[in-house]
Amino acid sequence: MTATNPRISSFREQILNAAKNQTPLSIEGGGTKAWYGNPNQLTKLDTRSYSGILEYQPEELVITACAGTPLKEIEAALKEKNQVLAFEPPHFGEHATFGGAIAAGLAGPGRISVGNFRDFVLGARILDGKGQDLFFGGKVMKNVAGYDVSRLLPGSMGTLSLLLEASVKVLPKPAATTTLRCQVSQEKALRILNEWAGQPLPLSASCWIGNQDSDGELTIRLSGAVAAVKAAIPLMSSLVNTYEITPEEAAIFWNDVREQKLSAFTSLTGNQTLYRLALPAACGPLVFPNSNKDEVLEWHGQQRWVKAPGDEATFTAIKKIVSSHGGHVTRFKQGSDVDPSLQRFTLLSEQAHSTALETVQARLRSAFDPAGVFATKRLP
Ligand SMILES: Cc1cc2nc3c(=O)[nH]c(=O)nc-3n(C[C@H](O)[C@H](O)[C@H](O)COP(=O)(O)OP(=O)(O)OC[C@H]3O[C@@H](n4cnc5c(N)ncnc54)[C@H](O)[C@@H]3O)c2cc1C
Repeated sequence: MTATNPRISSFREQILNAAKNQTPLSIEGGGTKAWYGNPNQLTKLDTRSYSGILEYQPEELVITACAGTPLKEIEAALKEKNQVLAFEPPHFGEHATFGGAIAAGLAGPGRISVGNFRDFVLGARILDGKGQDLFFGGKVMKNVAGYDVSRLLPGSMGTLSLLLEASVKVLPKPAATTTLRCQVSQEKALRILNEWAGQPLPLSASCWIGNQDSDGELTIRLSGAVAAVKAAIPLMSSLVNTYEITPEEAAIFWNDVREQKLSAFTSLTGNQTLYRLALPAACGPLVFPNSNKDEVLEWHGQQRWVKAPGDEATFTAIKKIVSSHGGHVTRFKQGSDVDPSLQRFTLLSEQAHSTALETVQARLRSAFDPAGVFATKRLP
């Protein structure tokens, strides 16, 4: 693809017009994550016309594709070669795109063992707010102010630049996978997961679902070499009374966790919010005001989902508790009666160790986007 590609030229034209008229653009792929982050009603820049896998070298474990490529097309190409996006990005809908998944930066159950999208993006091609066609990482390295731009895009929610193409590292599908389940309290689940995480075990995902006041359902996934998976099963069963679920049931379960299709995620009443908690490893159970203590814990407790009223006082109280443990909170999904204009994220200024990032962020945004073409405020 060259810079004269007509689709890229039309994106550039849209960006330059937006800069001239000071009318920010909201970048959108399949619109499957439009609900995520702070809402806006701005003019859309639709990436879907720029679609296709540009290069896939299974032996090099790298795939390069246009931002508008359907995520399912990428995953189908990888499946043919027995490879995967190991962090299991959620689609949240039929029409999720490659670029949208990168910009949202979300990761599924596999994130705990392999890292997140940011760790897998090797290179990117972008159009900045001045319409400049820039390449980062991969074969051509061109830095703006010394930043590793490919790593900044995941999670940026379209607020830095338009992602045109990206090269992403892929991994072979594990040779063996087994899913075990047991009934255990949240406190014990966190304790044993933390213990196991410190051992050389092929633990690739975990999910505890239940109420803090009673035993819940802990599901763990072991993935890796056949011998390693086989050897780990008795060790786990000796600590908790696990049983193996069928591969078919397991595949449905982990997909439902990733896509948030479990009833724990979907039964959100009008005034409730589904809060996403990001916590450091080894954080024990936390109790929140007005929550019925029904929770979902993933990533060995580092990602937690709590349903509670969506009002500002509850958000503030949850943020206070979580930040005192070194974590942060996002209003991930909101019930229909919750005020949509409320800030969805913990501000960087509210996180002791992140305050300095505000200056870096402001500098980055002015370097990439001086006219504010991408200033949609979807992220604070
Ligand atoms: C340009 C830009 C601006 C952003 N502005 C904001 C903002 O103002 N406010 C905001 O909340 N997010 C902001 N984000 C998103 C923020 O960077 C991500 O939420 C953050 O990287 C955490 O990512 P994660 O928790 O999804 O997982 P990862 O990046 O995978 O983090 C790994 C793990 O580290 C831990 N962790 C991560 N972040 C924290 C934290 N802050 N405190 C404690 N533990 C943590 C968690 O255990 C997490 O699972 C911004 C992102 C970009 C790219």
